[in-house]
Amino acid sequence: MILMKNIIREGHQTLETVAKPVRLPLSAADKKLLTDLLQFVKNSQDNEMVETYGLRPAVGIAAPQVNVSKRMFAVHVNDFDGTLYSYALVNPEITKKSQSLIYLPGGEGCLSVDRETSGLTPRYHSVTIEALHYDVEKDELVPITLDLTGYVGIVFQHEYDHLNGILYTTKLFDEIPNAIPAFTFMEEADDGE
Ligand code: ZN
Repeated sequence: MILMKNIIREGHQTLETVAKPVRLPLSAADKKLLTDLLQFVKNSQDNEMVETYGLRPAVGIAAPQVNVSKRMFAVHVNDFDGTLYSYALVNPEITKKSQSLIYLPGGEGCLSVDRETSGLTPRYHSVTIEALHYDVEKDELVPITLDLTGYVGIVFQHEYDHLNGILYTTKLFDEIPNAIPAFTFMEEADDGE
């Protein structure tokens, strides 16, 4: 089970390193990590688990954040319309991206960044990601193509950046010309903090 103490923080070399492709077929260790990453994100959205284990709520986590420099991340997030995006991805590639840019109005956050940050992070309005999805229940690796727009797309782009050794803190701007704000339930929920 992944806990906050297992998550490395900014300044750690692994977070600045381009992660290596995952060798296929998946090893037992990689399967376990994918399962644990996805479970961590789910746990972090469960009030009881958060209280019991002191978790910080999150919508995604990438393997480099637990000091494993391999191209894997997990996302568990609801879009505006209630659609659940729950994936444990292996060797994802962004194969298409829009010209237009968006940003989270309140700025992004990260499990590996403990300090408050100010500034906006530009993201593509929409991206297409091709990847292998590890179906934890069925123990199957399934090729998928995800067309992602808006807030959910931002989440995937944030995690994808981790695979390339990029933290959102290296992409903070006071304003982003021609970019439009993405509004979400998460943003509203964060307003009180
Ligand atoms: Zn992050």
